[in-house]
Amino acid sequence: MTTAAIIVAAGRGQRAGGDIPKQWQMLAGRPVADHALTAFAGMQRVLVIHPEDRARADGLGVELVMGGATRTASVRAALEALAGRGIAHVLIHDAARPLVPAAVIDRVLAALAQYPGAAPALPVSDALWTGEGGLVTGTRDRDGLYRAQTPQGFHFDAILAAYRAFAGEAADDVAVARAFGLNVAIVAGDEANLKLTYPGDFARAVAILKGHPMDVRIGNGFDVHAFCPGDHVWLCGVRVPHSKGLFGHSDADVAMHALTDAIYGALAEGDIGQHFPPSDPEWKGVASRIFLADAAGRIAARGLRLANADVTLICERPRIGPHATAMREVLAAILAVDPDRISVKATTSERLGFTGREEGIAAMATATLVSA
Ligand code: MG
Repeated sequence: MTTAAIIVAAGRGQRAGGDIPKQWQMLAGRPVADHALTAFAGMQRVLVIHPEDRARADGLGVELVMGGATRTASVRAALEALAGRGIAHVLIHDAARPLVPAAVIDRVLAALAQYPGAAPALPVSDALWTGEGGLVTGTRDRDGLYRAQTPQGFHFDAILAAYRAFAGEAADDVAVARAFGLNVAIVAGDEANLKLTYPGDFARAVAILKGHPMDVRIGNGFDVHAFCPGDHVWLCGVRVPHSKGLFGHSDADVAMHALTDAIYGALAEGDIGQHFPPSDPEWKGVASRIFLADAAGRIAARGLRLANADVTLICERPRIGPHATAMREVLAAILAVDPDRISVKATTSERLGFTGREEGIAAMATATLVSA
């Protein structure tokens, strides 16, 4: 079942202070909107932006929709952009809530099995007053009152119809859904799912981020290529002169393939053959750096970074040592990390087995990814 996420980032809100809208201010080294996008990785994502923010959004690698004059118009534009794509469920989320926990998203999606709409909220726990001129003028019953959060989730066709039928401006998507007669279930929100509104909220968000347990993901990769007639081999992106070549569909860079698979493995996103099928003539003879660059892009898209990688080549010849430094530098450049996070080393198999008989080269790799 296809789920889409609409991240609404078109507002101009200035209450948070700063020279630029809050969703484009930096939080722990990344724009607020980028944090929000990461929370919905793996879904079809649409980012709704103000046309003035195009340059800020272009680098995020997601589909952009230009917002309208109001939030209601912006969401409607995004829903229309997604219409006809076979989407079953849509989550509509404010970019100003960058720390939405995965459990909140899961609860909204789970409720959509039973209801056409679902949204997270927290019961009001403080006493409620009315006031005027600095004096309390009355109290209000807080029973049955909730603080609404996002993402607000809906059956796609139902919320699209609700938006098409709605005239005027609504506070949120739940209001549009209810005006159309849709039932919206309340699921448990989370205090960490705060909306950045005032300058002090950024400090709170940073404190919450620091309290997050670090995500650590380790992957391994293994690859073998057979020797064939030739005068050089490509290993870790370095051309190494040799009395043979390596046979393969691409440039047969066995070490880069093992490392690429280690990263796909850490992400649990398949393997190199799945992303670049050998049956596809497009990848014939290509430089393997294309594969590694794809894996590197997926690390960033998931809000992770490469902490280190370790590559071991298994062969009697050619000798790897004289090229190891150049190899580390090439890999580090593709992965956009410091070379001291990349290890390239080699071993022989004591003349045993296919590597010992010099029939081919084997490579293994380990990659560690951590929260960005
Ligand atoms: Mg290979």
